[in-house]
Amino acid sequence: RPRVFSGIQPTADSFHLGNYLGAVRHWVALQESHDAFYCVVDLHAITAGHDPKVLLQRSRVAAAQLLAVGLDPEHCTLFVQSQVPEHTQLAWVLGCLTGFGEASRMTQFKDKSQKQGNERSSVGLFTYPVLQAADILLYQANAVPVGEDQRQHLELSRDLAQRFNSLFGRTFTVPAPHIVKATAKITDLQDPTAKMSKSSSSPGGIVDLLDDPARSAKKIRSAVTDTGREIVFDETTKPGISNLLTIYSALSGRGIDDLVSAYVGKGYGDLKKDLAEVVREFVTPIQQRTRSYLDDPAQLDKLLAAGAEKARAVAAPTLRTAYERVGFFPPV
Ligand code: ATP
Ligand code: MG
Repeated sequence: RPRVFSGIQPTADSFHLGNYLGAVRHWVALQESHDAFYCVVDLHAITAGHDPKVLLQRSRVAAAQLLAVGLDPEHCTLFVQSQVPEHTQLAWVLGCLTGFGEASRMTQFKDKSQKQGNERSSVGLFTYPVLQAADILLYQANAVPVGEDQRQHLELSRDLAQRFNSLFGRTFTVPAPHIVKATAKITDLQDPTAKMSKSSSSPGGIVDLLDDPARSAKKIRSAVTDTGREIVFDETTKPGISNLLTIYSALSGRGIDDLVSAYVGKGYGDLKKDLAEVVREFVTPIQQRTRSYLDDPAQLDKLLAAGAEKARAVAAPTLRTAYERVGFFPPV
């Protein structure tokens, strides 16, 4: 079976609809057809400062949400990144193959470091895409289900795999991005030109899976919409309405065309009201299941530890081979 790998950061108290529709929904589907490795990437979550207690709790909540939306430990390997030390061990080697200029061109680094003030942003934020490449290459992943914002990082992972292979002999599978266009960039409700983001959207711009549906309804009602009153799908002239239609379509399973014809003669308010209801129906059972996983943290931790063991069984041999190829001393 082909392999997939993907990860998500525990950088907020909840995942948002962009995370779910752009990535995690595909993780759930791919666990049936692929040998799937999914990771709560807590190492990635400390690049911009954090509170240790909050991080630990968010990692658990992240894992609970992934289980609640349908990841099944019998069908995939779900684990927390910091429990598999091979990720950082390979990252060093890959970092030495990455050009300074090459890393400097990563647009996510440029955006995030600018927001933090360039002088204050961490070296970890800079080398983040190198650690991400290690995450992926350790598992010899063929495909990586992610949102559009990760395309450039994926390109770097591919380049690093090819570079290592040509310098030291064929070691890594070159991973392909798995980006499903229709929902690859869910936008911020308050700024339809920006992606919905855990760390940089304003609270009003995000619909969180774990948020009170009444609060989400209010956010959807206040979403920035476009001039005119017709409900049509056009990402250039009507980015706000198109984003709402995209979310509506993905959550309800109804086609965009079907929705557009159903709303002929109706207004933005009608669409928003109905979308809020679709969101409420979608998140309610997810919230219940998330809570029930969190009710038994010992059981959850046990499940994650078992996942980490399964992950290490794949990651450790890859690292061993890579270290040998590089010319490091044999393991003791
Ligand atoms: P942060 O702001 O902390 O980077 P994030 O919202 O970007 O958080 P990540 O944990 O970095 O979330 O990304 C997890 C997955 O969700 C990635 O595959 C990413 O491409 C995807 N993703 C994030 N935001 C969106 C979005 N708005 N639309 C579609 N996919 C998204
Ligand atoms: Mg991100």
